[in-house]
This record gives sequence, C-alpha cells and structure tokens, in this order.
Amino acid sequence: MYKCDRCDQPLTKANLRAGGFYVLLEKSQKGVFASPPQSDVSAYVCPSCGRVQLYADSPEAFRSS
Ligand SMILES: [Zn+2]
Repeated sequence: MYKCDRCDQPLTKANLRAGGFYVLLEKSQKGVFASPPQSDVSAYVCPSCGRVQLYADSPEAFRSS
C-alpha cells in the first residue's frame, strides 16, 4: 500500500484518464524507435491533502539495458 509523501495517509487508487483515454508512460529515447518501452500508469490520491502520486505499473520497462 502506498502512503502520502506529505501526511503519511494511505492513498486511494484512482483512474488517470486524458480525454477519456488511459494515459501511457513511454520511455524517452534518442532516435527513432518503432515502439519504445511503455507502461500503464496507476494514480493514487491522498484523501487528506489531495496529493496525487503516479506509479508505473511496469517499472522494468525503464531500466537501462
Ligand atoms: Zn496527503
């Protein structure tokens, strides 16, 4: 379970959408790649202060090879 960085409250999972679409996190790379590594993003909201924290569901996609 994630906790708020500010007030140490347990965070509530929320859906992150942009215009009705889910948001994807894409690895930043130099040059042109057919399909850069991607990950879904999970959003968590602190019910106390409203802080939103984002987490990549597949953090391994961003490790340098
Ligand atoms: Zn908080």
